[in-house]
Amino acid sequence: MSDQNQYLKSSRLIAAHYGEEYEHYYNAVVPPIFMNSLNVFETLDDYYDFDRRDKHKYCYGRVQNPTVRILEDKICALEHGVGALAFSSGMAAAVTAVLTVCRAGSHVVCIRNAYGPLKDFLSGYCREHMNIATTYVDGDRLEEFEESISEGTDLVILESPSSVVFSLQDIRGVAEIAGRRGARVYIDNTFCTSVYQQPLDLGADIVMHTTSKYIGGHSDVIGGMLAVKDPELMKRLLSYRELFGGIPGPMEAWLMIRGLRTMEVRIEQHQASAMAVARFLEQHPKVRKVNYPGLPSHPQYELMKRQQSGNTGLLSFEIKGTAEDAAKLAESLKIFKIGVSWGGFESLVFLPHARLTEESCRLLRGDKNIIRIHCGLEGTEALISDLENAFLQI
Ligand SMILES: *Cc1c(COP(=O)(O)O)cnc(C)c1O
Repeated sequence: MSDQNQYLKSSRLIAAHYGEEYEHYYNAVVPPIFMNSLNVFETLDDYYDFDRRDKHKYCYGRVQNPTVRILEDKICALEHGVGALAFSSGMAAAVTAVLTVCRAGSHVVCIRNAYGPLKDFLSGYCREHMNIATTYVDGDRLEEFEESISEGTDLVILESPSSVVFSLQDIRGVAEIAGRRGARVYIDNTFCTSVYQQPLDLGADIVMHTTSKYIGGHSDVIGGMLAVKDPELMKRLLSYRELFGGIPGPMEAWLMIRGLRTMEVRIEQHQASAMAVARFLEQHPKVRKVNYPGLPSHPQYELMKRQQSGNTGLLSFEIKGTAEDAAKLAESLKIFKIGVSWGGFESLVFLPHARLTEESCRLLRGDKNIIRIHCGLEGTEALISDLENAFLQI
């Protein structure tokens, strides 16, 4: 790392310049994609004695790669961690974290509105193959965590704001309870990004991102990240990533570095559009409820202001109408395309609960008709007018 890196404190400077070593790449302002699977050595001693954390020593692409390392250094600095690791998907990052912290017979506490496939992993694979028990909580009240985290709990899984309904957890409060009982706190920080929320500073142990969303930012890459503040945990994660094999390819890492450079300016625009769209929806006569933590009407607005400095482009709403109306609204939109995922330049609409049972919807606190939208970068006025027109169809 060059000396000037210690002066790169702001998130924009980190995204632009931190972790880069221009002098090693002929002063190219953009680092190369190190498209190699191995590095060679002069002597056997050089090979056997090398330190895997030394950023000028590499041996094999499943262990580490210089392009991947630049991405990790930037994420580590942005999240105020001691280390960060890149993965080939958000799920590869999440699964590596769970399998590193937990063992057979572990107890996990997880919020009910966490990302669906992670819950499938916990309630399916982890329960069936490792006898890991998961207790699900709504997560809005600290008392629930007091009641469900015990001395036998190894991991608490948060996602704040959560998927689909955007409910928050008090990160500092949960970290205090978990800390007293020796459990690690993991949080999915994909919605806020490091720009609007820094969970390690609030007491969390592991921050996870799917870089397929805002970090990539252009809907052209799948990837994940973990950042941690405990060097021991970092060492174990590094060795398990090597064993599980989840490192991303250098091309993907390079795309994530490129995405990071503009992330802050992009999410400011996503936030501005989402805020205007949320206000438009909130006053629309056909809308029953809007879920967006940036709205003062959000039930946890005060908590939001304590632990986040902003919100991004994703929100959901429920209409006054039938399931058919909700589907028709989604299909009448022209700019918002029907699709999962989010965090790219494009606006998207999805009905995440459309095929769930009434019972699951009740537990997840979102109507069967709940409509999730991602406000992309096509311009606020265009997005509102697209919604206005679609409402005329129902
Ligand atoms: C998309 C998503 C994930 C999974 O990330 P992948 O890169 O698709 O594996 C995890 N958490 C949240 C909140 C997501 O939206």
